[in-house]
Order: sequence, then C-alpha cells, then structure tokens
Amino acid sequence: MSALTITDLVKEYRSDNYTVRVLDELSFTAEEGELVVLLGPSGSGKTTLLSCLGGMLSPTAGSIRLRDTEVCELKGRSLDKYRMTEVGFVFQGFNLIPSLSARENVAMPLLVSKSCSKSEAYAKADELLERVGLSDRAKHRPSQLSGGQQQRVAVARGLVTDPFLLIADEPTANLDHVQAEAVVRLLRELRDAGRVIVVSTHDARLVPVADRVVQMAPVGEPVDELAREVEYSAGHVIFEQGDHADLVYVIEEGTVQIYRDALVGPTEQLAELGSGQYFGELGAMMGFPRSAAARAITDVRLTALGPHEFRQKFEGRS
Ligand code: ADP
Repeated sequence: MSALTITDLVKEYRSDNYTVRVLDELSFTAEEGELVVLLGPSGSGKTTLLSCLGGMLSPTAGSIRLRDTEVCELKGRSLDKYRMTEVGFVFQGFNLIPSLSARENVAMPLLVSKSCSKSEAYAKADELLERVGLSDRAKHRPSQLSGGQQQRVAVARGLVTDPFLLIADEPTANLDHVQAEAVVRLLRELRDAGRVIVVSTHDARLVPVADRVVQMAPVGEPVDELAREVEYSAGHVIFEQGDHADLVYVIEEGTVQIYRDALVGPTEQLAELGSGQYFGELGAMMGFPRSAAARAITDVRLTALGPHEFRQKFEGRS
C-alpha cells in the first residue's frame, strides 16, 4: 500500500447555471520520503487538490487515502484531528502573523491545538527554526525578514506538529533564485525524514527536483546532455556565481572549493569537496543561475553530466 493514494478524484464547482469540473478523475500515488510536484498553470486545480488533501475541501467523488486513513470519510473531531496532526500547511504568501515573532508564528499551531504545554511548543519552535537555519532570527517579526526567510519560517510552522504530509502551495513564488534554491533544498531534506511532501507550482524549474510530477496540464520533455570527463588545473574557476547552470559535476579526483562573493567583506567559503562528492546539482536541475562559484583547489578530474542522468546515477531515481 502506498503512503498516499489518490483515486479517481473529482471536484466540481457549481456556478449559477453551469458546473466546472476542476479535478477530473485524477489518480496518483506517492511513497514515504517522496517530494511530489503538482505542475500546472494558474486555474488548473492545484490549490483545489491541496485543499482536498488537507481535509479543507470535500471532493465531489473519488478517494484520498493517507496511510490507513480514508480522508474523504473523516468528519467532525476526527477531521479536525487529521488537519491538526497529520497535515502541515505552507501557504502561498507565507500567511505569517505580522505582530508575532518568528518563534511565536512557528509555535502557533501547537498553541492553538493545545496539544502540549507552552514551553514545549516554544522549545519545538526553537528546534525547527534551527533546522531551517534561522535560530538567530527567532525574535524577529516577519517584516524584519527577507522573503526567503519568511518562507523558511512558514515551512518550520508547517512542520511543528510533525505531520506525515506536508503541503506547500507555490512555495517558491515571489522568491529570487537564491532564496528559492534554499527553500527547495529544505524541502528535499525534509522528504528524507520519510514524510510525503506535496508542492504545487506553475514553475517548471521544480520538475527535476521532484520524485513524482503530477501534470495538471501537459508540458514538454526535459532535454539532457551526455556525461563526459573534464580536467582542470589548480586555481581554475569551474563556474562563477550567476553563470547559467546546465551541468552537475561529480569529483573523481582532487579538491573543489564552493564559495560566494560577499557584497562587502571577504569571500564566503561554503564547502570544500573531495572525490565522490558532487556539486552544482540544484542550479542545473532547476535551470537557476549558479548561486555560488566553484574553483579547483588542486588539479581535478570531474565527470560533468546533465541533471536527468545525474539523478538516475546518483539518486537511483528516474
Ligand atoms: P490553481 O491553484 O491551479 O490556480 P485552483 O484550484 O485555485 O487552481 O482553481 C481551479 C479552478 O477552479 C479555477 O478556474 C477557479 O476559478 C475555480 N474555483 C476555485 N475555487 C472555486 C470556488 N470556491 N468556487 C467556484 N470556482 C472555484
């Protein structure tokens, strides 16, 4: 049995004198630890589907099974419990409460459900803020945070009840590519904890990072490139920050430094990588410009390959 099974899901909205069928017998499954991307243009039913998954909207027909719960049959208290404990929501536009600190916003679902003491709720919020790299911003209000930071606070809030299913509606909308990459990196890390993560987007750049894509409207096949070996001498800059990203690099031999130039002050070293490690994967998979630069520290031998092939070889996914 799959962790999530959607079968023949139909949702119709009635207007004055006609009915619009927004979801038309949609079926798909997802396993634990998978990141599912719902891809489609505005109006293709993504929010409708997420609302049904979250138990906020009742479908016209069909079934949604999360582990052994038939979501469409839940009512009253069991539906409330499902919404509060099984599902975490990350809304479009963050939906953070402006007068509350990041810490208070993250703790809010626990405080509202009264499922634990206040001090436990705040301790959990602190733990999650650390997880999303924002411990030092815990006391800041949303207006004092960047868009990317606010989105990470929203992800932390979505996770505070430790839900099995995390739903995110357009989580990278309105973010620049550096911020969007940080949010996607976080979502990819979260699936490793065995959750199911369902993300809606109209942005095809998210497709290559998905384990499963549910097409709410058809799009073309991704283009890929064949793997090839490349060699660079010590000191060679493999790519610069902001460069167009098409290839992922796997280090066969030597050491590579990943760094980012600061507007003021010294260059920030992000990582030093050796043989068997890889870099440049997210920019290449998503078609984002490089968010950092890479330089050979020693003479290096690398395998350069396209993102699709990279995923097949190194992540065992197709
Ligand atoms: P998306 O998230 O892909 O933009 P939505 O699920 O929000 O798509 O909407 C899909 C379609 O359903 C749209 O045409 C929208 O106008 C319609 N729709 C959404 N909610 C309602 C509603 N409550 N009543 C009537 N029509 C709706």
